[in-house]
Amino acid sequence: MKTSQTYNKLCEQCLNKYEISNNIMKGAYLLITELKNDVTIHIGKLGGIRFSKGFYVYVGSALNGLEQRIKRHLRKNKKTHWHIDYFLKHAKIINVFYKENTAKEECLIAKRLDKKLFSVSSFGCSDCTCKSHLFYGTIEEIKNIVDSFDMKIYSFDANH
Ligand SMILES: [Zn+2]
Repeated sequence: MKTSQTYNKLCEQCLNKYEISNNIMKGAYLLITELKNDVTIHIGKLGGIRFSKGFYVYVGSALNGLEQRIKRHLRKNKKTHWHIDYFLKHAKIINVFYKENTAKEECLIAKRLDKKLFSVSSFGCSDCTCKSHLFYGTIEEIKNIVDSFDMKIYSFDANH
């Protein structure tokens, strides 16, 4: 009886592990955002940065729950933790793209965005050697380059 219980317990653990590894998406994501007005935003330790109105694309990654991370970005009330949290108090997310991957791909994507778009210096890249993880350009420029990335669209309520 005892053996059987132990066995069942182990199986449950295995099953949990199996489900976790299959349900938690890992990967990179892009947030395409619109800033309606020129505004100076205090971005954490970077201090005040002047942003021109227009379209911005941010690249990030989540290796422990991609969907949870995206949902967090879409949520309005939250503590400001990352640079992007400060920015999103003013800018509206209009499209989200993602790509499942076990490797950290965000910096490769950032380098590709940097070749085509302007960057906001030092934004979102405290933990890496990139120039930035936030870029701006026209919506056409942003969509053209994002189209070439082979990423999936993340659907959400646009009135979030
Ligand atoms: Zn980077």
